[in-house]
Amino acid sequence: MRQTYASVRAASYYLVAGIPLDRELERLRRLDVFAAGPLAERRPELRVRRTRRRPNRLGFAVPTEHRLSVTAYPEIGPGDVLETLLHELVHLHVGRAPEAHAWHGPTFKRTLALAMREAYGVEIPTPRNTLHGVYAEAIGQRLADLEPTTGLEPVTPSLRMKCSTN
Ligand SMILES: [Zn+2]
Repeated sequence: MRQTYASVRAASYYLVAGIPLDRELERLRRLDVFAAGPLAERRPELRVRRTRRRPNRLGFAVPTEHRLSVTAYPEIGPGDVLETLLHELVHLHVGRAPEAHAWHGPTFKRTLALAMREAYGVEIPTPRNTLHGVYAEAIGQRLADLEPTTGLEPVTPSLRMKCSTN
């Protein structure tokens, strides 16, 4: 069988802020909240971009192509990258909802909140907006509580970044 690019990528390609994103993706796509969607059926293609400075866009998803991208930058923390990863996975699950604010509308927000709770035990009031950074701190704190000895870096104070979805 012919190997795809994804299958030959080194583990280091997916390692961001101490998190092996390929393994985390496998765990996340099996969450109950995603059970009735495309993620449960098939692993999406994940790309990791690396930049020298914090970019304007931390990640994006292309539901029609079942792929997502997250961007790593020098000061990124585990909460930052996990928030982005799960946010983009929720885009792949929800797609363009038939409602106002199709990408970040009520369906997206509700699904993201359920996914955050299931994946990381994070329960915060459903944010009015879905800019990146809303969940990052809570995830980072939760990780620190769960694994105080892993030496994970504290989450960087997150600016809130707009997500764009193509
Ligand atoms: Zn988004």
